[in-house]
Amino acid sequence: MNTKHKGFITRSLHAQYPQKDAYNALHMPVYDGVAYEFESAEEIEAVFEGKKFAHAYSRTSNPTVEYFEKKMVAVTDAHAAIALSSGMAAISNVLMSLVEQGGNIVSSNHLFGHSYALLKQTLPSLGIEVRFADMTDLKDVEAKTDDRTRVYFFESITNPQLEIIDLEKLSALARSKKAVMVCDSTVTPPYVFNSKSCGVDVEVMSTTKFISGGAAAFGGVVLDNGTFDWELLPALQSWAGKFGKDALVGRIRKEIFRHLGGTMTAHTAHFMNLGLDIMALRVDRCVENCKKLATYFEANPKIVSYNYPGVERSLAFELANKQFKGKPGAIMTFDLESKEACYAFYNRLDTIRRATNLNDNKTLIIHPESTIYAEFSAEEKQEMGIGETMMRLSVGIEDVDDLINAFEEALK
Ligand SMILES: *Cc1c(COP(=O)(O)O)cnc(C)c1O
Repeated sequence: MNTKHKGFITRSLHAQYPQKDAYNALHMPVYDGVAYEFESAEEIEAVFEGKKFAHAYSRTSNPTVEYFEKKMVAVTDAHAAIALSSGMAAISNVLMSLVEQGGNIVSSNHLFGHSYALLKQTLPSLGIEVRFADMTDLKDVEAKTDDRTRVYFFESITNPQLEIIDLEKLSALARSKKAVMVCDSTVTPPYVFNSKSCGVDVEVMSTTKFISGGAAAFGGVVLDNGTFDWELLPALQSWAGKFGKDALVGRIRKEIFRHLGGTMTAHTAHFMNLGLDIMALRVDRCVENCKKLATYFEANPKIVSYNYPGVERSLAFELANKQFKGKPGAIMTFDLESKEACYAFYNRLDTIRRATNLNDNKTLIIHPESTIYAEFSAEEKQEMGIGETMMRLSVGIEDVDDLINAFEEALK
């Protein structure tokens, strides 16, 4: 079945298996095995020389994981996909594949905490320089770019600031500087975000969040949109000679990810295959819940202010409509009058769970200043836009009246 022109859910449900299943199973089985046998000496030689593709050992590739990769390609405009053990594995492996020692990355200064630590500590220790910039300010980005800049790295919506970068403008600058646009789009999955049409070259995602569906398993994925000429990038030149358009996934699979062992397991891929099929339903429900909660917040004087890029009062509303089809994920923030009020509210809450994750099926809440950002100084917190009166809400798929009632009770 050719599903390329069908809708998102249809494409996910009916994505073709890499090869016909021996039992015609309608759901991709979990191929839990580690090693695969070959018919002959000639065949095994051809596979090891890269002349023929076959699974050999599951740290490098596995049929259930391969099917998840095929599904990701089927639901996006990506040229190729590779799945990894976590979102952090996807981010670290892709940056290590794209940037050589002595090259640099210009990164947003508003990042998921562990990505920030990777860029601030681990990559510099490997000889990769990182320069942090305000990515909403092109002049700042340009000032930090030089002829050794290989990558612009940023998130599609920053968390918890909920800032959105104008990708059309940033990608024009990236093109002129020959920098690869690498976007972490975890909070805006492919159902709401076509990264290729927005000028992104490489998309990385933690599939732990929206895709797994209910925080069932850890995972990550890298999508290569096929828009960057890998011959132009020092770290991939020799790989482009061998793999052409597949240089990035080729290097990740044959070198970085194989050597560091950041593989997705077949069991995890099974969860991702199930989760992806119904993700669009969950995203729609989450967005609808966010909009109803916004209406409730608007009318409640105890909510001092709130932000969700899906409503007109947000500074990012126009970009959210343009880049994310008016469905800009399911993270909201709101302020109460004091830190004490936040704690009192947070301690009285029922139904909404105190936890740090995002995009679970359950609605989760956290006070970022005292948790995720606890190790930063007061000055750094201010620079990152982390106030002590702010709460972050990751809105789930519950019946929205129950969420509103939880607020009513806890704000009393
Ligand atoms: C959770 C998250 C990650 C890390 O993903 P893991 O699967 O936990 O490794 C990276 N980026 C963003 C935006 C995230 O929310």
